[in-house]
Amino acid sequence: MFRTVLAVAACKACRTLLRLLKRGGTALPGKVALKIDPGILEKVSAGMEIFVITGTNGKTTTSRMLEHALEEAGEDVLANKSGANLLSGVTAEFTANASLTGRAKKHTAVIECDEGALKQVVPRIRPRVITVTNLFRDQLDRYGEVMHTRDQIREGLRKAQDAVICLNADCSLTASLADEEGIADRPDGRIRFFGVDIPAGDRKEPELSDAVHCIKCGTRYAYRYHTYAHLGSFYCPQCGYSRPDTDTGVTGILEEGPDHTTVTMHTGAGTQTVTVALPALYNVYNALAAVTAFSASGRDPVVACRSLESVESGFGRMETFTLGGNRVQVILVKNPAGANQSVGFLSRLTEPFAAVLMLNDRTADGHDISWIWDVDYEGFMQNENMVRVFCAGDRAADLALRLKYAGGDEEKIEIISDPAQIADRIENGSLPAYVLPNYTSLLQIREIISKRAGHGAFWEG
Ligand SMILES: [Zn+2]
Repeated sequence: MFRTVLAVAACKACRTLLRLLKRGGTALPGKVALKIDPGILEKVSAGMEIFVITGTNGKTTTSRMLEHALEEAGEDVLANKSGANLLSGVTAEFTANASLTGRAKKHTAVIECDEGALKQVVPRIRPRVITVTNLFRDQLDRYGEVMHTRDQIREGLRKAQDAVICLNADCSLTASLADEEGIADRPDGRIRFFGVDIPAGDRKEPELSDAVHCIKCGTRYAYRYHTYAHLGSFYCPQCGYSRPDTDTGVTGILEEGPDHTTVTMHTGAGTQTVTVALPALYNVYNALAAVTAFSASGRDPVVACRSLESVESGFGRMETFTLGGNRVQVILVKNPAGANQSVGFLSRLTEPFAAVLMLNDRTADGHDISWIWDVDYEGFMQNENMVRVFCAGDRAADLALRLKYAGGDEEKIEIISDPAQIADRIENGSLPAYVLPNYTSLLQIREIISKRAGHGAFWEG
């Protein structure tokens, strides 16, 4: 008991101190707590109903959507908002929200968890529901790692025998986890699938797929339709393995706007018309993941569907600011699949806009930037509503060169090396702007934009 009290006190003190020092570091308080009491996370999460979200893309937005749905249902929710999604960060979040004696103060938690950390976190917090959004390779220079990531998720799921597991039916790498030993044998209803049941999005066969071959027999997959990247209605012509039927699925796209998508969705409770207050198909997937998790806990999916109308996005994934009267949307681009989705979204915009593409090649970004040649910038450059595109970041010149090869009007391309100047141009212009940075450039541009637009640092609040 003394050990627990000491761990909780140290964690809280450490967190407060870091905030006073304006340090966003989120690992240290959890590390301190675990050092003092290695069993602290089990204690401070005991008795809670916990949702875990993992997968390559969409973890943060799905978590925000689920948290919002639970709040709309009147619940007080604990969440690891600042993206502290490793064991130390998760530990800090639970510990800081516990009483000094280590009792949980809230009933429900939504935890975004790193794929690699899942197997460490899950046995300690015993989640009710685990959702896997999708699996993509993160960067070209880490090709092959996607199977390693899948193995890690599989280990995590095996350690959660009591959890309901929600999987993306359209992602063969994710959906096939349902057939793995130690996962497949759970009772009926303990595995749920979500997906887009109709051709939607790009509908094109991707030039670069992260999942070309059947995971069961190695034959090349065929598709009834693609939605984006390797997602879609896949099937194996050899062994018959195919996309599973969905428990929650989109059956129609009614409207695609710059700030929303309206769809029809079938849930366990009939078919609903659902407006997702975030644009682009990948956010429809995030919405599906959130509704499925909500419903897998025994709650009414209709409540989650309704809450999607008023959802706001998390840090950087699709954040909206106002600068000089112009709407600025910031969309993090962290891998080729994400880049194709975001650029594809811009190629379909029907209002005049400016775009900012930012590319750094620092360690956190990956040094190899050759993947930009695999991104489909052609439709974007040829969209007449794209009035101007600013290329920025350490590799701005490479981006500009890539865009020149995409066709369209070269005069629209401009290189700006100083991020502050980008903010000036948006502020003094008269167009809505879409900013697509990769990871370290997101940190740069967001700091500048959020200061001018009057937002605080992302770990505040
Ligand atoms: Zn096969």
